Amino acid sequence: INDYLHKNVLVIGLAKSGLAAAKLLHKLGATVTVNDLKATDEDPVVKELKNNGIDVVGGGHPLSLLDDFSIDIIVKNPGIPYSNPLLVLAKEKNIPIITEVELAYKISEADIIAITGSNGKTTTTTLIFEMLKEDGKQPLIAGNIGTVACEVAQKATKENVIVMELSSFQLLGTIDFKPSIAMILNIFDAHLDYHGTKEEYVYAKGKIYENQTEEDVSIVNLNDKEVCECSERSKAQKLFFSTTEVIDNGVYLLDESIFYKGEKIVSLKDIVLPGEHNLENILAAIAAVKLRGVSNESIYKVLTTFNGVKHRLQYVDTLRGRRFYNDSKATNILATSKALSAFKTPTILLAGGLDRGNEFDELKPFLHHVKAMILFGETAPKLERIARESGIEQIKRVDNVEKAVLTAFNVSEKEDVILLSPACASWDQYKTFEERGDIFIQAVHKLN
Ligand code: ADP
Repeated sequence: INDYLHKNVLVIGLAKSGLAAAKLLHKLGATVTVNDLKATDEDPVVKELKNNGIDVVGGGHPLSLLDDFSIDIIVKNPGIPYSNPLLVLAKEKNIPIITEVELAYKISEADIIAITGSNGKTTTTTLIFEMLKEDGKQPLIAGNIGTVACEVAQKATKENVIVMELSSFQLLGTIDFKPSIAMILNIFDAHLDYHGTKEEYVYAKGKIYENQTEEDVSIVNLNDKEVCECSERSKAQKLFFSTTEVIDNGVYLLDESIFYKGEKIVSLKDIVLPGEHNLENILAAIAAVKLRGVSNESIYKVLTTFNGVKHRLQYVDTLRGRRFYNDSKATNILATSKALSAFKTPTILLAGGLDRGNEFDELKPFLHHVKAMILFGETAPKLERIARESGIEQIKRVDNVEKAVLTAFNVSEKEDVILLSPACASWDQYKTFEERGDIFIQAVHKLN
């Protein structure tokens, strides 16, 4: 017996997660209808679902879906806004609307560590995963990071720990979801187009703590007022981390080292991952894995070898004294300013890409240690103006990222940082930021 047996479930949105949810619900004995704007009978996925006895309705979101069947539950793709008329009607009819994350929780036998925040989710999720793995535990990674949560939950046993990255969109669709360890890294103004107001966004993030009880732990960023406010909704034990305060019972910095409850874990100088912002992610990850008994040796090993999630200020290599970093994920000015702040030594910045009408003046305060800018893509002329106005000595325009690497190497000296952090999306020249980053990495290796 499970919560979905003999229930009429409507799955809205047939992306990877919708497909997984539909199949799972069918397996659990629910009567499943899938609704997707673009679904057609020719689509092999639709054919497969229909062959399995799952009804698929395409070509719109007809309101009649809620008249004709007595729908008990709706599972929606996190990207579909609640303003969708079908969802508005469902709300009026008091039909519960969930995301597949709720399903994952309901069927999971494994312990769940859940991570959310405006920034740093993927990095922290990966750090936790790596530390657990290094220690011989059996972690599985899931959620927003790219593997569908309810699919991972089906594979998981009691021996596993699911490390789950969650977006605010996913969290909004949870009801009973109760991770044994939950954390909010930080809350900035983000996604206000979807959530409407900051209050709603904060509410969504806070759902990660909401159902936790005394046997669970809420990990809280003491430096973030909104995160602290959210944690007041939690009945769990609290474990705080901070980059500025010494917290006897938490994770903190002291004497250029990281401490957990009075015990030194690692010196900052031994950590490979650059950037102040990553320190928060590291503190949060340490909090989580210490709770699961991971040894200091395992934590140390990961922090002294882990060079970043691919394309996010990822350390690539050192060639003749020049250090190369790939931050292709930096598709806006804020991300590039964070990357620039991570270095104090002379830096050569590789930037440019799709023109969205930005003028880039906000980059100027972060360019004081930039000795050269190598520019490509649509925004090259705009970035050139910024470089000139900032008095940067060497400014070069090149055709693409590959040429930018060569040019950067030619103007570089020992001890320089060579950083790809484009401050722009890639779509004027490259399909994805991943493709752009991979080309950077290949070009660096070719220099050897
Ligand atoms: P997310 O998964 O939340 O998008 P990532 O770990 O992929 O986060 O990091 C994306 C970018 O966000 C990084 O390149 C960096 O610019 C920024 N960032 C990461 N962690 C933090 C943090 N703790 N505080 C502020 N900005 C951060």
